[in-house]
Amino acid sequence: MKRNTIQRSLTLEAVQQLKSHPTAEEVYYAVAEKHPTISRGTVYRNLNELSESGEIRKMEIPSGADHFDHRCHDHYHVRCLKCGKVFDLDMEYIPDLEKSVKDVGGFKLSGYDLVFKGICPECSASSGQSAHTGAEKPVNNRKRRDENEKYHNT
Ligand SMILES: [Zn+2]
Ligand SMILES: [Zn+2]
Repeated sequence: MKRNTIQRSLTLEAVQQLKSHPTAEEVYYAVAEKHPTISRGTVYRNLNELSESGEIRKMEIPSGADHFDHRCHDHYHVRCLKCGKVFDLDMEYIPDLEKSVKDVGGFKLSGYDLVFKGICPECSASSGQSAHTGAEKPVNNRKRRDENEKYHNT
């Protein structure tokens, strides 16, 4: 197990430095940038070990890749529907939310992930214009077409 220690701390370091809730793939690229000999499998295995031991947190995103979080205390997230990035939300943690479940339906609850969704500032800045011009885009074409038709009609 000793021989894995370096790779393990490299993986942990990468998650802590990225701070962006990276996916396993992103962690792998960050590690491989500095240590090209490390294999994808090694990084993935270390990510799993680190999240099992509680040094990082694995966030399972429905219909998306797992993300890894360098912050282990309880907090909530918001995920951008456009770029898929996950950010921390600055909000009070709701204690004992699972206690408000009236009927667990036979489940033994082990916790929950609360992920809000929306469009991040970066994405809304880059798509802000196109969202409004969506209905107006044929204006220029129409004008040109009208002119063409006029030309053909006369
Ligand atoms: Zn985004
Ligand atoms: Zn987080």
